[in-house]
Amino acid sequence: MKKANMYMVLMFAVLLAVQPFIGGKTAEAVDRFSDVDNSHWAADEIEYLAEENVADGDASGNFRPDEPLTRAQASVMITSALDQDGLYPGIASFSDVDSDFWAYASIERAAQMEIFQGKNGNFNPNGSIEKAQVAAVAARAFFGSESKDAAGSVDFGDIDDDFWAKGYIKTLVDHNIVEDTGQFEPNEAATRAEFSAYLARTMNEDLRGGGDNSPEESEEDTGSRILYEGVVDASTPLNVRSGPGTENGVLYTLQDGTKVDVYEQTGSWLKISSHGGEGYVHGNYVTNVDEVDSDQDNEDKTAEAIADGKVNSSTLVVRDGPNASHDSIGRLSQGDTVKIYEETNGSWVLIKYNGDWAYTHSGYLDEKPAGESALSNKTIVIDAGHGDHDPGAQGNGLVEKNIVLDVALRVQSKLEDQGVNVVMTRDDDTFVSLSGRVNIAERADADSFVSIHANAATPSANGAETFYDSSYKSRESRELAQSIQDRLVQETGMNYRRVADTGFYVIRNTTMPSTLIELGFVTNTRDANRMKQAGYENRAAQAVVNGIEDYYEW
Ligand code: ZN
Repeated sequence: MKKANMYMVLMFAVLLAVQPFIGGKTAEAVDRFSDVDNSHWAADEIEYLAEENVADGDASGNFRPDEPLTRAQASVMITSALDQDGLYPGIASFSDVDSDFWAYASIERAAQMEIFQGKNGNFNPNGSIEKAQVAAVAARAFFGSESKDAAGSVDFGDIDDDFWAKGYIKTLVDHNIVEDTGQFEPNEAATRAEFSAYLARTMNEDLRGGGDNSPEESEEDTGSRILYEGVVDASTPLNVRSGPGTENGVLYTLQDGTKVDVYEQTGSWLKISSHGGEGYVHGNYVTNVDEVDSDQDNEDKTAEAIADGKVNSSTLVVRDGPNASHDSIGRLSQGDTVKIYEETNGSWVLIKYNGDWAYTHSGYLDEKPAGESALSNKTIVIDAGHGDHDPGAQGNGLVEKNIVLDVALRVQSKLEDQGVNVVMTRDDDTFVSLSGRVNIAERADADSFVSIHANAATPSANGAETFYDSSYKSRESRELAQSIQDRLVQETGMNYRRVADTGFYVIRNTTMPSTLIELGFVTNTRDANRMKQAGYENRAAQAVVNGIEDYYEW
């Protein structure tokens, strides 16, 4: 048996939060499923997944190992394997997956984690998955999206070096999850047994093949895979997220000056570990202590960035020289940020990529001069819902039009302190029509539109929810909504209800990134009591401002 690999164990322990690995013990297939006996080639893997509550059979006790795996089944299994199945789904994304569909939450979560994507607004939950896609899904989920670029060839007769999923397949081969021989049959539909085998072997090293020829981490790496020690350098608490990107949920926050261990870099995100456990933070807010302390200062370390860049295309190739004839050394994804150190000839800029000098094309970067506040000179419309004869929601002594105006005025003043040009749709108890509100935002040519409301429903409904609409600036609106929702939950203590795509008039018709916040339910006793607490309006306003800042900060 292969030596226990501490790094992988550590990584999986965090990713999966499964109970300690059944080290040394191979899961034994018992007669759990009537159609999977001990001689089935994937019996151990299926048994392991069943033990871990990742996979289940049908009502009659069959696993149906040779049936094609559906996308819905794969979503359930993989989010469950990642221990992400209990989380809020957040977003209603697909027209063919209703919220009462049995796998709804898992599908939403899998999409949110970018494990699966839909097509033209549909998820196709009952569709099968080609084996190449299964390899991509498993590799991305467990070894990161950079596994796409894994170098080297594979021996499979039907997988050549240009095949889109070659990197993913190579990653699975390198980890002894698939045996690199014969045909891979990338376009065949994967069966439930095949997917189970990939998943179980990814989760549990004891189920993998190979051994002596294992190419990954050797003995001397064991236990010391920290890239460097860093220290948090952020003026506001730094969000530690479950994955590399703001779409991932916030696990906990870190204060300025906290020390962290940095394990890996994914685009502009760092995988770190600190007192709160492992997670991901944006690299802009962590300073490398090793470098600061190093005696060997060289020009790399004293160079000052002239601008920040943010990738605005789906991928952007990074090269080792300033034109397209130079070798590609990696790629950035949409939303990744880089420090720009030099404009070179033409459109190429000098950046840092994984700590090294590199070049990329500036045509796919939004740029802002170094040191400029993300919020300064932005025009933001703050829309306090309702007003005058339209009180909005009422309950437990609270009236929506009053509470949202109070919060909105505080948001205005806090944003103005940061150099934002704030446009209010109302700043007193007057009535403005919905189209009037949209017109104000359009005339102001605003950079974003934030509508503030409070909810009413049955007494049990509770929590904060934030909406976006996909008619205009869909991705940006969703990011804005998510940023504000995260802060509302974190800073006002409301339950996380959801972030969802809805067609509310003011966010459907404004053409800039826009969001509609429901602070909480005045009709719920607990929410209402929170809203009545001293300082609530100020905390809510600060949360909205922090969320807006999170969205713009890069
Ligand atoms: Zn309202």
